[in-house]
Amino acid sequence: MASYKNVTQPDLFKEIHEGRTPEPPLRFRPERIILSRGSLSDPQRRTLVKSIYSVYPDAVVEEKLDIPHNRIDLSEPDPVRLHYRGKRTLVFGEHKSAVRCSSEDGNTCPNYWHFSPYGFCPYDCKYCYLAGTPGVWFSPAVKIFTNLPEILSQIDRAACKLGKQTAFYLGKLQDGLALDPLTGYSRVMVPFFASHQYARLILLTKSSEVKNLLDLEHRGHTILSWSLNPPEVCRRFEANTPPPDGRIKAMKACAVAGYPVRAVIMPIIPIANWRPVYERFLVRLLEEVNLDRITLGGICIYRSARQLMERKLGRKNTISKFLVDNKDKPADGRTRFSRRQRIGIYGHMIKVIRECNPELPVALCLEEKPVFEALNLTGSIGRCNCVL
Ligand code: SF4
Repeated sequence: MASYKNVTQPDLFKEIHEGRTPEPPLRFRPERIILSRGSLSDPQRRTLVKSIYSVYPDAVVEEKLDIPHNRIDLSEPDPVRLHYRGKRTLVFGEHKSAVRCSSEDGNTCPNYWHFSPYGFCPYDCKYCYLAGTPGVWFSPAVKIFTNLPEILSQIDRAACKLGKQTAFYLGKLQDGLALDPLTGYSRVMVPFFASHQYARLILLTKSSEVKNLLDLEHRGHTILSWSLNPPEVCRRFEANTPPPDGRIKAMKACAVAGYPVRAVIMPIIPIANWRPVYERFLVRLLEEVNLDRITLGGICIYRSARQLMERKLGRKNTISKFLVDNKDKPADGRTRFSRRQRIGIYGHMIKVIRECNPELPVALCLEEKPVFEALNLTGSIGRCNCVL
C-alpha cells in the first residue's frame, strides 16, 4: 500500500481552485498558448488549463491535441529568434516519463532522481545550459504538464521501491518555482512530500514569488535552493530574472517558515572586479539567510548552449574569453574555465564563506576530483545541492 497522502485529480483540483486563483508570475507574459496532446484529457485538466489561460486574455490559444508537447514546432529557423519565440509561448501537455534518474559520468556529481511538472523556463540567463539541450533546442517553449498527480504517483512508487530517504529534484530541466503563481503546484507537492515516508523534495529556483509556500506544513521534507549571483553579474547575464535582493528576501521568508534553505552560486563569472563583488555579495547573503548548505560552480557548457550564448553576447564575451578549448575535453564533454582559474576562484570564495560561517557545509557542482583535492574539499564530494 502507498505510504503517502494519495493525490488524486479531485484533490489537485480542489487545492488549486478553492481558495486561490492563478496569478500571472511577474516575468512571464505568453503571447501564444498551445494545448498539446493529453493536456485536456479529463474535466479536471480542462478546468486547470482554462483557469490558467484565462489570466492571459490577450494570448492566442491554439488546440493541437494530436501533437505531443515535445513535437510542437514553433516554425522559426533562426535559433535566437526561435529561443525568444519559445519564451513567449506556453504549452500545456502531459508528460508520461517525468520522473527519471540521471545517468551522467565524467565528473564527481552523483546521479540523482529528478522530475518535471514543468519544462524549460521564462527567464533569460545568457549562459543557460538548458537552452542547448536537444529537446529545448528543437522546441524552446515554456511548458506546464497537467498530469501532476500521475507524476507524484510515479515518485511514490520509485521511493517505496528504494525503501530509503531519497531526494527528488525539481530544477534540472526547468526553473522549479517560476510558474508556481500560475499553477499552485507547490501547494500539492509540499504536503505530498511532507507525508511521505521516503521521498524528499529539493527545488531549485531563481524566483522570488514564495507566497504559496509560507503557510504549508512541510515537516522539513522540502529543501528550497536558490541559484544566485551578485547584482553586478545578474544585471549583465541574467535578464528577466528576479533581482538577487528579491531572491534573498524570499530565502529569508522561507527559512523563517522552517524550510531548509540552500544556495547555489553558479555560474561564478569573473567580471573585472569579481573579488570584491562576490565578497560583498557572499557576506550579505550569509548574514541575512540561515543557510543549510552552499554549493559553488562555474560555467560548464555544451556546444549548442555556447553557440546560443555567443549569438546573444558576442563571441568575445566575458564568459567565452576564459573558456578553454582544447582537443582533450573533460570526461563529461563540457567546456570550462581552466582548472587553475577555477581553483583560484573557489579558493577565494571558500575563504570568505569560512570567515562568515566556519560550520557551513560547502560543496562544488559538476567539478572534477583534482579540483576538490586542491581545495581540501574531498569530504564534500557527493554532498552537493541535488542530493540530501
Ligand atoms: S533560470 Fe535556469 S533554466 Fe531558466 S534561463 Fe536561467 S539558467 Fe536557463
